[in-house]
Amino acid sequence: MKNEENGGAIPFHRASLGEEEIRAVAEVIRSGWLTTGPRTTAFEHAFAEYVGARHAISVCSGTAALHLALIAAGIHAGDEVVVPASTFTATAEAVGYTGARPVLADIDPATMNLDAEDLARRITPKTRAVIPVHLGGLPCDMDAIRAIACRHSLHVIEDAAHALPSTYKSRRIGAVSEFTCFSFYATKPLATGEGGMITTNNGIAAKRMRTTRLHGISREAWSREQTGESWAYDIVDAGFKYNLTDLQAAIGIVQLGKSDAMSDARRRIAGRYSDAFRSESAIEIPVEPAECRSSWHLYILRLRLDRLDVDRDNFMERLREKGIGCSVHFIPLHFHSHYQRRYGYQRGDFPCAEGEYTRCISLPIYPDLTNEQVDRVISAVLETARECRRAKARAAHASA
Ligand SMILES: *Cc1c(COP(=O)(O)O)cnc(C)c1O
Repeated sequence: MKNEENGGAIPFHRASLGEEEIRAVAEVIRSGWLTTGPRTTAFEHAFAEYVGARHAISVCSGTAALHLALIAAGIHAGDEVVVPASTFTATAEAVGYTGARPVLADIDPATMNLDAEDLARRITPKTRAVIPVHLGGLPCDMDAIRAIACRHSLHVIEDAAHALPSTYKSRRIGAVSEFTCFSFYATKPLATGEGGMITTNNGIAAKRMRTTRLHGISREAWSREQTGESWAYDIVDAGFKYNLTDLQAAIGIVQLGKSDAMSDARRRIAGRYSDAFRSESAIEIPVEPAECRSSWHLYILRLRLDRLDVDRDNFMERLREKGIGCSVHFIPLHFHSHYQRRYGYQRGDFPCAEGEYTRCISLPIYPDLTNEQVDRVISAVLETARECRRAKARAAHASA
C-alpha cells in the first residue's frame, strides 16, 4: 500500500527500448532474411567505428565472445588464465570451455576491479592470459595490467560486458587491448535480448573468429565457388554456432545510436546519488579515477558496517520494503560450489572480494528512471541508513 501511494515499486532494471526498435525488428521480418545478414554486417561496422577498433565480430552472447577470443589467443587445456574473483560466472566459465584453468585473483577494494599486484602474484609458467573485468563499467587500471602482461607475454582479453561506453585515458574501451568482449544481454547497457561482440585490431584473429563463430565454414571457399556451384564449402576450423541474427542486430543498430544519450542519463543519476550520499557517514560512494570514465552500468554503494546495527542483507530488505529494487554484484566466484569442487577454491581465499561482497548494494540506474524515482531511491537509502545507524553513532550524530 505504501508503495502504491508512492507511485509503485521501482524495479532494479528496465531496458530502454521503444518504437524505433520495434520498427527495426518489423522491417527485418518483412525483409524475409532473419539470421546473420546485412544488418549484422552494418551493426559490426557501426560498432567498430563507435569504439575505435579496426574489427568488430558479432556473436550470440558475451560468453561466446569471451570463448572465441580465448581460442583466437590460442588458449587451450593445461593453460592458466587469470580472472578477478568478483565477476559474473561467465568470465571464468568461458576459460573452462577451453580446458584451461581459471586462476582467480583478488580485487582492489577501492575500485572493486582486478588488483594488478595480486595478478602479478598469481602468474605461473602456465599463465597465458588475463581477463580484466570493468566492473559496473569502471575501467580497470589498464596501464598496470598491460605492463604485467607484457613482462610475462600474456594475452589481454577485456571483459567489457558492462563497459559500453567507457573510456580509459580518453580511449574507448574496445580500442585499448588485443581483444575486448561486450555483451548485449537484456540487462546490459546496450541490449538486444541476447548478443555479444569482440573488438580487435588483429586482422588474422578477426578472420579466425568470423570462421569459428559459424561452424568453421570458410568464406573463402564459398566465394571461390561462387561463379560455379554456390553450394560448395569447406570446414576449415573447429567451429561453434555462435552467430548473431539480423533481428538482434537491427535492435543493436538503434541502441548504438542512443548509446551516448543513455550513458549521459546514467551519469546524471550517478551524480545525483553521489551528491546525496556523500555526507552520510554509513555509506561509501563509488569512485571514478581521473583517467577513467565509467559507463555507469551499475551504481554500487558500500555500507560502513561498523556504523550500522544491521548487515547488508537486512539493509537491502528494508530498501525492498520501501519499494526499491536492488541487487548485489557479485557473489565471489570462490563462494560457488562448482568453483570449490572443480578448482578447489574455498571461502577465505580472496579477502578483499569477500569483504566488499558483504557490504555492497547496487541501486537502480537506467535511462528511463525518472527524477522523481531517483528522489525516492535517495530518500529510501538515507532513511534506512538513519534507521540502522548504531546506537552509539546515533548519539554522536545527534550531539554533533
Ligand atoms: C553479462 C556478463 C557476461 C556474459 O554476457 P552474456 O551475454 O550474458 O553471455 C560476462 N561477463 C560479465 C561481467 C557479465 O556481467
